[in-house]
Amino acid sequence: MYVLKFGGSSVANANNIKIVADILLAYPSKPIVVVVSALGGITDQLLLTGDKAACGDESYRELLSSVELRHLDTARQLLPVTNQSASLSKVKQYCNEIEDLCEGIFRLQELSDRTKDKLVSYGELLSSQLLTAYLQTQNAQAEWLDSRQLIKTDSRFGNAHVLEGITHTLIEARVPKDKNNIYVAPGFIASNSHDFTTTLGRGGSDYTAAIFAAALKAEVLEIWTDVSGIMTADPRWVPNARPISRISYQEAMELSHFGAKIIYPPTIQPVMKRNIPVWVKNTFAANDPGTLIENHQYESAEKIRGISSMNKITLLSLEGSGMVGIPGFSKRLFEALAQQQINVILITQSSSEHSICVAVQSGEAEKAKHTCDAAFDSEIANGKVEPLVVEGDHAIVALVGDKMKSHPGISGQMFSALGRNGINIRAIAQGSSERNISAVISSSDVKKALNVLHESFFESVKKQLNIFITGCGNVGSKLLGQIAAQQVWLE
Ligand code: ADP
Ligand code: ASP
Ligand code: MG
Repeated sequence: MYVLKFGGSSVANANNIKIVADILLAYPSKPIVVVVSALGGITDQLLLTGDKAACGDESYRELLSSVELRHLDTARQLLPVTNQSASLSKVKQYCNEIEDLCEGIFRLQELSDRTKDKLVSYGELLSSQLLTAYLQTQNAQAEWLDSRQLIKTDSRFGNAHVLEGITHTLIEARVPKDKNNIYVAPGFIASNSHDFTTTLGRGGSDYTAAIFAAALKAEVLEIWTDVSGIMTADPRWVPNARPISRISYQEAMELSHFGAKIIYPPTIQPVMKRNIPVWVKNTFAANDPGTLIENHQYESAEKIRGISSMNKITLLSLEGSGMVGIPGFSKRLFEALAQQQINVILITQSSSEHSICVAVQSGEAEKAKHTCDAAFDSEIANGKVEPLVVEGDHAIVALVGDKMKSHPGISGQMFSALGRNGINIRAIAQGSSERNISAVISSSDVKKALNVLHESFFESVKKQLNIFITGCGNVGSKLLGQIAAQQVWLE
């Protein structure tokens, strides 16, 4: 059994869906489970539609029409005329359901997380139905699976937690291993015990694929996307980034946790538990080798494996002379944050115990300020601690690598590279596993920081220097002769 996942850009239009189908039809072994994302950009568009409807903004209707038109056009371009009618009516049926839902949101001017999940689920329902229909026209034994009936979760709409036991039982019972089928399943979506649709978090189709792979004890999980594997840094920010051929589960997990969007962080856990190797491949360059993620530490000349970054970070600092030597302040701070389900991304505490500093997503900063000030209200009132200091517009850059601990001086190299380029570091953390070092910097410095660090750790430090010589007499020609003679040394 093989599980393949194709992301939003891989199924963005009819042409790309054909490329995906070609990969599947040529796949050397069957059965396979194929997990797909919504057509690129559709999830954002559906969310925007819901938000507009909830604000009483009638222009949500135009957005909905463009969603419908995009899917109808895709179906028409993808399928032969004689095979179009069933798919066109399926698209219309789903779009009517979306319209009814949005009409309700518009009338009530209210959009709950539960309704939001129902709304966005149509993105993956539509894309998976289109791919199934196309594969069937190519004479493949393609069968559509309803992930909502197979993946069961709790009721945390928008970011639901998977109930592993029942999910594995349902998937195993539904997907036989002895057929030559291509099973197509929508990613990202699931349901709770009352059969209400839930979603697994933005980017969650990777996770869906890992859940199928784990339940079916797949030989391999393949994540097909729009770049040729996991790269040393995000290629959108760092033009010199290059693919990493092999990487351990832990390194991949650290990179994704610290913002490498290529893999949704929870994806690695289910496959790592069962030792299922993961290949990250490029749909548009299928012959590129890609990246193999597996349970192995690799010999590499490089001290670190990759650099990632997280944006929209806010620093929260709890400070006060009343904290020194008194246990329990950090416990209360973290309890207050946990009660509000605020995820702490990074923690540092000064050795004087005078302050504790944590980094959270900026979207949660206001809630954090409110809850922490309430938790310490009596200490704030009698001057033992200050009201929580909130500083937005930050980012985290992280260096990741299993081999870091055997190479002293990495943090020195990191901080001096950043310092030399005028990038101020606000907070630093190093995991006790010594698999990552992260620094909090201003969000306006991220691009520069990533490139500076990439150059320092991954690029040979050759710099081009342009020299202009006026006059090529005695001195000038001697200098040119010396430069030529010393070329190797100068480089
Ligand atoms: P998909 O829709 O296929 O799930 P995503 O957009 O979620 O694709 O993830 C792929 C993108 O992740 C790439 O286009 C790239 O810009 C970004 N990315 C971020 N960090 C990395 C990295 N270290 N290596 C490769 N891609 C990365
Ligand atoms: N379509 C969903 C999203 O955009 C899930 C995914 O693409 O993985 O977040
Ligand atoms: Mg993704």
